[in-house]
Amino acid sequence: MGSRFDLTVVAENQKKGDEYLDMAISEISRIERIISSWDPQSQTSAINRNAGVSPVKVDSELFQLIERALKISKLTQGAFDISYASMDRIWKFDGSVTEMPPTEVIKQSVSKVGYQNIILNHKEQTVFLKNKGMKIGFGAIGKGYAADKAKKLLVKHGVISGIINASGDLNAWGIQPDGKDWMVAIVNPLNKSKVFSWLPIKDQAVVTSGNYEKYIILNGERYTHIIDPRTGYPSKGILSATIFTKNAELADALATSIFVMGVETGLDFVNQLKGVECIIVDENNKIITSKNIALKEIETQSR
Ligand code: ADP
Ligand code: MG
Repeated sequence: MGSRFDLTVVAENQKKGDEYLDMAISEISRIERIISSWDPQSQTSAINRNAGVSPVKVDSELFQLIERALKISKLTQGAFDISYASMDRIWKFDGSVTEMPPTEVIKQSVSKVGYQNIILNHKEQTVFLKNKGMKIGFGAIGKGYAADKAKKLLVKHGVISGIINASGDLNAWGIQPDGKDWMVAIVNPLNKSKVFSWLPIKDQAVVTSGNYEKYIILNGERYTHIIDPRTGYPSKGILSATIFTKNAELADALATSIFVMGVETGLDFVNQLKGVECIIVDENNKIITSKNIALKEIETQSR
């Protein structure tokens, strides 16, 4: 998935611990083989190759992931959209983009974005991208999904406590061997070595989308890797969005969505969702929290 995973398990001994880690690693690799858009062998690549051509039969696991992604698109009124991916032919974050892409090119490409044109056939278990040039990608939900699946597998095998950390998209369960809660640090997006605060996490996922990891600078302005599917341009106004909820997949998708929605709409949206909280850092480095996270509370819990 092009990102680093850190896995932590609590086990009776080293040998058991290593076994558990191997188990989680193979689960994550298995998922990568299904959802990767780089691997020409993956089912996701097959769907993309057949855009505008024909429906592709997929495993129920992938079918259901896409089904859930579409639900989130509806819930976020299109802020989250796995068909953003046709834009990744224009916004590349590998150093190859050195000047502003022409407006016409962006317009052309964004016309291919639209979750309404991802057609699922339940009976046949097929996925069809209606228009030629359409493309899907799981960059905003895949790591969360993998973290959830790895956790689920470990719990099934009796692992009482652990953390799956997919480059900051993390899912933790149980407690530390010394009886304390796992703690998560919220960092200052402008200076990642500085921690804003620490929060305890109990059987929860915490996922952050930031503008500081993958971006390009054009004419002195920063363009981040989260694209507004409505305009085809990178989102602006937020430095980082952190979501707290039960599972990492939803948290991952929502963190990306908040970025696109912007501070006000994003906050309003989260405040209407049960069991979901957020911490947003805006472009002035100001911290904004959802209803049930009081900043005071965070500060008294810092260490
Ligand atoms: P990170 O990779 O930093 O954890 P995210 O989870 O927010 O960040 O995912 C960002 C990735 O999601 C982008 O690199 C891209 O692959 C994909 N993406 C960008 N914009 C959108 C969008 N509006 N909806 C869905 N996926 C997106
Ligand atoms: Mg995300």
